[in-house]
Amino acid sequence: MAKADFYETLGVSKTADEKELKSAFRKMAMKYHPDKNPGDASAEQTFKNVNEAYETLKDPQKRAAYDRYGHAAFEQGGMGGGGGFQGGGFSDIFEDIFGEMMGGGRQRRSASGRERGGDLRYNMEISLEEAYAGKTAQIRVPTSITCDVCTGTGAKPGTSPKTCATCQGSGRVRAAQGFFSIERTCPTCHGRGQTISDPCTKCHGHGRVTEERSLSVNIPAGIEDGTRIRLSGEGEAGVRGGPAGDLYIFLSVKPHEFYQRDGADLYCTVPISMTTAALGGTFDVATLDGTKSRVSVPEGTQAGRQFRLKGKGMPVLRSTQVGDLYIQIQIETPQKLTKRQRELLKEFEEISSKDNNPESAGFFARMKEFFEG
Ligand SMILES: [Zn+2]
Ligand SMILES: [Zn+2]
Repeated sequence: MAKADFYETLGVSKTADEKELKSAFRKMAMKYHPDKNPGDASAEQTFKNVNEAYETLKDPQKRAAYDRYGHAAFEQGGMGGGGGFQGGGFSDIFEDIFGEMMGGGRQRRSASGRERGGDLRYNMEISLEEAYAGKTAQIRVPTSITCDVCTGTGAKPGTSPKTCATCQGSGRVRAAQGFFSIERTCPTCHGRGQTISDPCTKCHGHGRVTEERSLSVNIPAGIEDGTRIRLSGEGEAGVRGGPAGDLYIFLSVKPHEFYQRDGADLYCTVPISMTTAALGGTFDVATLDGTKSRVSVPEGTQAGRQFRLKGKGMPVLRSTQVGDLYIQIQIETPQKLTKRQRELLKEFEEISSKDNNPESAGFFARMKEFFEG
């Protein structure tokens, strides 16, 4: 179910350079081009995948994002379920990489001196059970919000900010230095273009106050580790009435004690005794839907055998599909034998024939033949 790795799709190594990528892409594109494979839906899909992989990897910024976040880098944050979720475009994550995001970075400032608020990152860890069922999480986010007393202007109610007399509102001043004229940020208003003579007493002229807000976040069933959810406008308030930043929820799913996840499928290794494997038997496994499933092990079961429990895996995001649970059998050789057990096993061995262990007998016979002719 998981999307194929872009490097694998193109058949190149993770260290492939531009030239290697291009030649691999050409080869694959020629082979799977729809014109060459009329009516072949799987070739068409491969062609699309190859295109997508190359489009991503040929761009150094996108490639860096992919190397760092995998497919999650390009997933749309929109998970449905309402509540202000919006698709996070490509650019968000690239800006993150180049340090313009996640607070502290450069602010986008408009001509009016109104700055967009910083983006916030919130790391959330959930259990596999929670990823299975989905949940509504209540989170508390410390953030700066627009001051309610001055409505973000920073000026005491009844007064208003004045245009800066030093820079006439441009936020920049020019100074001659030798032959050059240097432009720099206005020292009076610090680039805002306005000064406040009578600052608001609540926010001391900042226009923002820090507060902890409670937000409810919808985590849809089937969500995968590494998913990023964007809550548009839920980040820090803008400065002096500027737009608010976004809140990004970086979601990780805790490793599970018994189940490993691969896309929508789950894997569980179950050790059974040598006698159960030889004689056959049954055991129960608890599944994430809260029920139990009985697994019947037939006589003569070998280590590594896999049993599929259909529909007992993870739900697929935004669909009604459900993955499967695979039970992988491990066989435990008995240890700390008593005298009596040892006797019984020796006796068992004496009356065993090649037919009891065809793999083992066959292997050593073939090896002997190979080396001794
Ligand atoms: Zn205020
Ligand atoms: Zn100024």
